[in-house]
Amino acid sequence: MSRFTAYVVNSFQFYGSYSASGFMHVIQRNAILASTLLFLCSTTSTGAQNSDVRVMAAPVTVCELPIEHEDMSRANEHTRRVRGNYDPNARGRATFNVTYNGFSGPAQTAFQFAVDIWEQHIESNVPIKVTANWVPLAGNILGSAGAALVHRDFPGAPIANTWYGSALADALAGIDLSPAGSDINANFNSTFPNWYFGTDGNTPGGQTDFVTVVLHELGHGLGFFGTMEVDNGTGAQECDGVNGNGCWDLGAPNEFPAVYDRFAEDGPGIALINTGTYPNPSAALGSALRSNSVHFDGAQVVATIGMRGPLYAPTVWNAGSSYSHWNEASFPAGDPNSLMTPFISAGESIHSPGAVTCAAFEDVGWTLGTACSILVANEPEALIAEGESLENAYPNPFSNKATLTLRVDRSQHVRAVLYDLLGRQIVLLYDGDVRAETPITLFVEGGSLRPGVYFVRVAGEQFVTTRQVVRVD
Ligand SMILES: [Zn+2]
Repeated sequence: MSRFTAYVVNSFQFYGSYSASGFMHVIQRNAILASTLLFLCSTTSTGAQNSDVRVMAAPVTVCELPIEHEDMSRANEHTRRVRGNYDPNARGRATFNVTYNGFSGPAQTAFQFAVDIWEQHIESNVPIKVTANWVPLAGNILGSAGAALVHRDFPGAPIANTWYGSALADALAGIDLSPAGSDINANFNSTFPNWYFGTDGNTPGGQTDFVTVVLHELGHGLGFFGTMEVDNGTGAQECDGVNGNGCWDLGAPNEFPAVYDRFAEDGPGIALINTGTYPNPSAALGSALRSNSVHFDGAQVVATIGMRGPLYAPTVWNAGSSYSHWNEASFPAGDPNSLMTPFISAGESIHSPGAVTCAAFEDVGWTLGTACSILVANEPEALIAEGESLENAYPNPFSNKATLTLRVDRSQHVRAVLYDLLGRQIVLLYDGDVRAETPITLFVEGGSLRPGVYFVRVAGEQFVTTRQVVRVD
């Protein structure tokens, strides 16, 4: 059996940093990586796998405060505020032990509120250790957080040769694999002047909801991160120093991916870690990571939202937001699944991980807590159970206009969005209340659409469903 020995390695960071303009996530490698990366674990040679653990370094942040981002405070209640479905009186099946350094009372209260939400969404028998620092951060950074350690090939690891953030690794192993260290490190900017520390989700205009920021950053620390990046050809080497080359790993090229990386694929469905198509490193991988078409192909995600999870993959690589977030265009502000997108607006509050993030957590190995299970279960199936119905588009295929009729059996807020095949939001079809027994008609106008396959996704408060429509000439 393996023995574990941990040493600090100052080489990598898995840190999401979060500015007021957006969630920014950094997965960067120091130029000195190659010479400093150490293996942290000695193992016996009797095991089939050698276990290994690495300690992440302090965060590097690249975020800047927004200059143009819209303020959500005047948006309607449903758009600016995503409530969780957690029970404030229930006990979760995970425990977070947070060490607070320098927090004010209100900041700590809000942080703990976010922790309490996560405790109901995942399960672990091993306390999750978080070190939270309230410190000045340069460059208008709001915060940063990430897995403090990663483990692979530990007892109970579902997939061999794969890195897991230590909170998840501990949960899977059923023991604390790294008793000496934190699982998640988080820094939040003590000099940012516009924090909202309330826990009610009524974030005023011009202020940024601290609970939302903490939820997001803890999401990264719990496992919402991958190791892919694109080299910019200058300064510290992200890959091999060649501008535009993409790569993945935590150490030497072609070593081991993070579990998240194993679900990432291109538009046609080829895994980004398939080195036959995407050598590591390579220009091909760099292009794929900037293709606006990177998807999380996890069975639970697909079952939950009816399609692969669209990841943020803009044509210009952004080390602070690309890849380790959902696509902002697919889950824009106000969408119940928008917590782990790269942007947040002032006046916005998202107090739930959303079904798609819960599903992705299940795909990477988490046992879901009650709150996540409810979210996931309600996403695709409640439509029938609740008696709502969405007729298929007619005509379909269509050229000028297709219509779909939606009925609900209980008055509620409904949001209908047209997506393209890549998961990009094309147009908001409806965002408002629908009354019971008063069907509404959704119109998909063909005029500005290119021929192709699209999806109409309709989400109510307790249901979601998707219909395919095909635009032809
Ligand atoms: Zn982030």
